[in-house]
Amino acid sequence: MNADAPCSLAPYASTEANSRGRLHPEPPPQHRSEFQRDRDRIVHSAAFRRLEYKTQVFVNHEGDMFRTRLTHSIEVAQIGRSVARILGVNEVLTETIALAHDLGHTPFGHAGQDALNRCMRDYGGFEHNLQSLRIVDQLEEKYAEFDGLNLTFETREGILKHCSAGNARHLGEVGERFLQKRQPGLEAQITNIADEIAYNNHDIDDGLRAGLLGIEKLREVQLFAEQYDKVMAAYPGLETRRAIHEIIRRMINRQVTDLMDTTRARLTECAPQTRDDILAQAEPLAAFSPAMRRMNGELKRFLHEHLYRHYRVHRMTSKARTIIDELFAAFFGDTRLLPPEAQRKARSLEAESGASGRARAVADYIAGMTDRYAIQEYDRIFTPATLT
Ligand code: MG
Repeated sequence: MNADAPCSLAPYASTEANSRGRLHPEPPPQHRSEFQRDRDRIVHSAAFRRLEYKTQVFVNHEGDMFRTRLTHSIEVAQIGRSVARILGVNEVLTETIALAHDLGHTPFGHAGQDALNRCMRDYGGFEHNLQSLRIVDQLEEKYAEFDGLNLTFETREGILKHCSAGNARHLGEVGERFLQKRQPGLEAQITNIADEIAYNNHDIDDGLRAGLLGIEKLREVQLFAEQYDKVMAAYPGLETRRAIHEIIRRMINRQVTDLMDTTRARLTECAPQTRDDILAQAEPLAAFSPAMRRMNGELKRFLHEHLYRHYRVHRMTSKARTIIDELFAAFFGDTRLLPPEAQRKARSLEAESGASGRARAVADYIAGMTDRYAIQEYDRIFTPATLT
């Protein structure tokens, strides 16, 4: 098979023909598909550019070698596209969902989101998935005729990976599947797992580079140990950096191959005829094999214990929490501390829904910050020596 030749789409792929379209009808694009237009709008959005300076695990300024949310999103897109192409589903839609999937993340990774969620507990909470949707549906202000990016239903459905029933009820058609317990399209399912493959593997790489993880300890993890043994047998004495890359690229390949093979077998077994048949399944059809699910679980537990809870990471997350907590309290207590544009939004949301609206505007402002911008804002608000 010529890998560069366009693959024909399976009957259950998402296509323009079976798309539920955009909230605001627009003339069809002339030189690209509807999903290409979605992808291009995401790439040109302000939220996408900010991903460059938002953390995955390590604070952005800790070193230029670490992943950011931007490079993570590109890695997810790469993995997702390979899988989508082989399975005959929409490669462009998969890429589009991957590039947008982390747009709603706060500064400082999960620590930032947890802190902001706590600040917002009396005002509807904060969830990065919902925030991604809020950005593409409402917060980007670039187009004359609508707020947000006016993306297709399928891209929005893919962005909203999970959602509580309570939130789903307020989201219209994009929330319906959470109430009806239906699946998203295969493109979204693939992106979900591609996300996991990307971050588990790059967190090992970044953790080793930062000196927080060690190779000997990692050999307790089966997925790592299997590839370690193969690389060491084939290339005894290989320089450590190259060995690590060889091991990790083989781990990614092993997981991607397992995902492709398992999903293909599940598709053959359930023989969906249409996209709707995919949505009607009780479980996602894109999946790891039971053995890979177990090994992946073991890897995740290892990373939780040895990387995410490492005292150096914990110091960073604890500091991040303080920054978010104090910024929220200051802005919520006195919205005149906000820059004029954010003040205007706080006033207009407060007029609509009182304190919850004001809190939401503050959360939008904080969530939009990059790591370094949040640190600078903290300095500008709280450090007496910084009076600018
Ligand atoms: Mg992600």
